[in-house]
Amino acid sequence: MSSVQSSSGQTAEAYDVVVVGAGFAGMYMLHRLRGLGFSARVYEQGGGVGGTWYWNRYPGARCDVESMQYSYSFSEELQQEWDWSERYAPQPEILKYANHVADRFDLRRDIQFNTRVERTAFNEHGKFWSVTTSDGRTVEAKFVVLATGCLSNARKPDIKGLENFKGPVYHTGNWPHEDVDFTDLRVGLIGTGSSGIQSAPIIAEQAKHLTVFQRTANFSIPARNAALTGEERDAFRRDYPEIRRFAREVARNGIFAEQPDRGALDDSDDVRLGKYAGRWERGGLTFMYVYNNLGLERSANDTAADFVRGKIAEIVKNPETAKLLQPNSHPIGTKRICIDTDYFATFNRPNVSLVDIKANPIEEITASAVRVAGKDHEVDALVMATGFDAMTGSVAKIDIRGRGGQTLNRKWEEGPKTYLGLMSAGFPNLFIITGPGSPSVLSNMIVSIEQHVDWIADCLVHMRRQGLATMEAGRDAEDKWVAHVNEVAQGTLFPQANSWYMGANIPGKPRIFMPYIGGVGVYRRICDEVAAKGYEGFLMGRAEQPQAAAS
Ligand code: NAP
Repeated sequence: MSSVQSSSGQTAEAYDVVVVGAGFAGMYMLHRLRGLGFSARVYEQGGGVGGTWYWNRYPGARCDVESMQYSYSFSEELQQEWDWSERYAPQPEILKYANHVADRFDLRRDIQFNTRVERTAFNEHGKFWSVTTSDGRTVEAKFVVLATGCLSNARKPDIKGLENFKGPVYHTGNWPHEDVDFTDLRVGLIGTGSSGIQSAPIIAEQAKHLTVFQRTANFSIPARNAALTGEERDAFRRDYPEIRRFAREVARNGIFAEQPDRGALDDSDDVRLGKYAGRWERGGLTFMYVYNNLGLERSANDTAADFVRGKIAEIVKNPETAKLLQPNSHPIGTKRICIDTDYFATFNRPNVSLVDIKANPIEEITASAVRVAGKDHEVDALVMATGFDAMTGSVAKIDIRGRGGQTLNRKWEEGPKTYLGLMSAGFPNLFIITGPGSPSVLSNMIVSIEQHVDWIADCLVHMRRQGLATMEAGRDAEDKWVAHVNEVAQGTLFPQANSWYMGANIPGKPRIFMPYIGGVGVYRRICDEVAAKGYEGFLMGRAEQPQAAAS
């Protein structure tokens, strides 16, 4: 850190880099920057590290990527010394891991907690960003890195009468830090995505009655969570070099698993059903990777969807409830597939009921009830598992002004535009980690975070060596990338679902498939080639005007 005379004549702190957010992306970015000798300041609105895992403390919250893989790979010591206790880590353990990383690498001294970045503006003359935070201070930085997370802007829906409800209203994405006790209470749960599906069985065990309000039935696969044995951990640790390489370079989703070599219709019905049954028993996200065309061809996808619908009918005793729980509105996997523990069986409990709010949307929330089709469902507490303004929501909350004072929100009015998901034209020296246009939420996030952080770190070193002051996405390169991201998505079944990937859960948000679905290995190669060609498509600036990078 150094001090500079600001335009108002006051002395401002100045850093090489300001990082926004101290989740897994912000923490690793800080660690790399420090190691390379850059001065950095991290601002985090929460009171601690961990990002999404700091906020999402709802009952049953756990990761749907196996813990041995949902962990940093950058430090061999770290990955050898940390003991994950379960196949899928529960939220408290992931948060403990994040805190361990912060302590182990002494990160906290450069993180300012409980501080939001409110606005940041690029000074074209001085080639730096002014960053203003919620404590009213402004600092300067040559670069800003947005490590704001993709699923960190919890969204309470605008339901008539919600403000009149007398009981507590919780959001899974912004859960209180104290214990919430539902004993003897009638609880209403709105939303049946991953968060609702994970929390329903736990709430049902505690509450007097749980009423689940379902708009869209969702596909969910059993997690088959279990304690990890010492042998399982050792096997992973021994094979980490290959597991990590595979996750980065080969697997489309950044997860080490056997890869499908055939399509669903290449097998006979019996063989196919046997494979689905095997994956169902094994549990977890890899259900969708039994065949290589489930995300591409509807007829193939239908076979997997039928299998899961059949399982729901087997598990849920009341045929009407089972029918309501069977998803029919989208191909399986085109909304993020859920991973559960006893979700469907929860509806066999006498204290659980399901209300269809697709056929009859919630009319109103009264002081003590949720009214649907003229009937009041009495509840003492409400849990909103209604999701996030994903991928762009947290960025949109910051007033970001690039060249000519243009705001990023204005530029992204019709959907996010980036080059490689890393930068947006007109916003020099502003990087986004796992932003729209990168594999991001379609992948094991930590694999994608590490790739972006390493790419940005290399890029900053390149600029320092070359004496370059600015870097920004070229408009042509950005337009081509946006078109490519779209084209690849259109070749899949994903745009057929009203998912948060498409921005469809936010009224008025443009319907654009936001993440890059080409796979993390392919994407990494593209990013590496761009860098190897002297950051092709980016504009590098030494003096007043940016100039095209060598290609
Ligand atoms: P989500 O997938 O967006 O689900 C939100 C749910 O709320 C949907 O069922 C949605 O219905 C419903 N909803 C939204 N607005 C509503 C309204 N006005 N009235 C009634 N229902 C409404 O959100 P999420 O469950 O929090 O999960 C988001 C993502 O976070 C996941 O897809 C996953 O990537 C991640 N996540 C991961 C884990 C994990 O690792 N296991 C756990 C939790 C979350 P519609 O479908 O009809 O819109």
